[in-house]
Amino acid sequence: MGILRSVCPTCGEIFAGVAAFDAHRTGSFKQRTRRCMSRREMQTHGMTRNEKGWWMMPLVTNVAPWFVEMTPSSTKPPDRPL
Ligand SMILES: [Zn+2]
Repeated sequence: MGILRSVCPTCGEIFAGVAAFDAHRTGSFKQRTRRCMSRREMQTHGMTRNEKGWWMMPLVTNVAPWFVEMTPSSTKPPDRPL
């Protein structure tokens, strides 16, 4: 529970949450090159799909560079599993 589904109006892919949605958007706002990553690009960046076909965030060991900048605390794994 608690995972919001985000559907991208541009590429039509479904994402398990806003963070995963944000992670598939690449390029620069300033230079107007903002776009969706292709499925292959998403996989290259470590994103995976769940059993429903929703794209999920990459594992912490293989995150996209811009995502590391957004969330510095995610660069190190948790001390112990929950
Ligand atoms: Zn998209």
